Amino acid sequence: MDTLTKALAYDKQIRIYAAVTTDLVAEAQKRHDLWPSSSAALGRTMTASLLTAILKEENVTVKINGGGPIKDIVVEATKYGTVRGYVGDPYQFYQYNDSGKINVSYAVGNDGLLEVKTIINNEVFTSSAPLQTGEIADDFTYYFAASEQIPSSVGLGVLVNEDNTILASGGFIIQVLPNCSEEVISELENKLKNIKEVSTMVKEGYTPEDIIKELVGENNYELLDTNMPLKWYCRCSKENFSRSLKMLKNSDLEEMINDDKDIETVCNFCNTKYIFTVDELKDILKEKNKKEQ
Ligand code: ZN
Repeated sequence: MDTLTKALAYDKQIRIYAAVTTDLVAEAQKRHDLWPSSSAALGRTMTASLLTAILKEENVTVKINGGGPIKDIVVEATKYGTVRGYVGDPYQFYQYNDSGKINVSYAVGNDGLLEVKTIINNEVFTSSAPLQTGEIADDFTYYFAASEQIPSSVGLGVLVNEDNTILASGGFIIQVLPNCSEEVISELENKLKNIKEVSTMVKEGYTPEDIIKELVGENNYELLDTNMPLKWYCRCSKENFSRSLKMLKNSDLEEMINDDKDIETVCNFCNTKYIFTVDELKDILKEKNKKEQ
């Protein structure tokens, strides 16, 4: 099961959130038939979006468009730990020649923005930062420093099996709190240079707390929340799609009805198809006009 654990470390001078997200990325991979670069890009963004939503205690919509062949990455994460997302092109796979590792930055590109949108009391707030490398973790690290003015370090990783299914996924965010000393910052920077990749830790069976232990050392942290469940979830429904159809112009709805064919709508986030028959379209038009009178 996917979970997230929160901790403070170095005498409350830093905050760490760590997450294991293998199952929720596996669900996204299945839903969208993602190839490895698309899986890694979407999986890293889903993990980072969950960390961001839970840190901010706000639901967030994250959008990344770096101009690469993957096109848009769109992820919605809630402060309650649910997440859904999609990429413009699910069929992207590139590898680095030297290591054979999945190449994410080429697929994503780095000519664009990382945008984080929150809705507070019906008002939309958008903050953004220019993409740095398209590797996602660097881009979130920069976003937190530039847009939120919080020195942070983000680690993200996804490992993919030969058959494109997901082997391991996880991530962490470390944030420096205002009282943090220079010694702690430089000790932490040194540690981060020498730790295993987070995807390797998850593959080896590390829990979120084990990841925290690896980052700051044993007996150097206090746990806040442990094992908060994380889950892939799409809140779409036929009802939602019928509401969107009601927003169309009368003439467009009439045209669909005159075509005398079922209409198929697809949810971008989960690929569920909803069929509307001509009779249902007629009902939608009738109800729409009733409301408008
Ligand atoms: Zn859906």
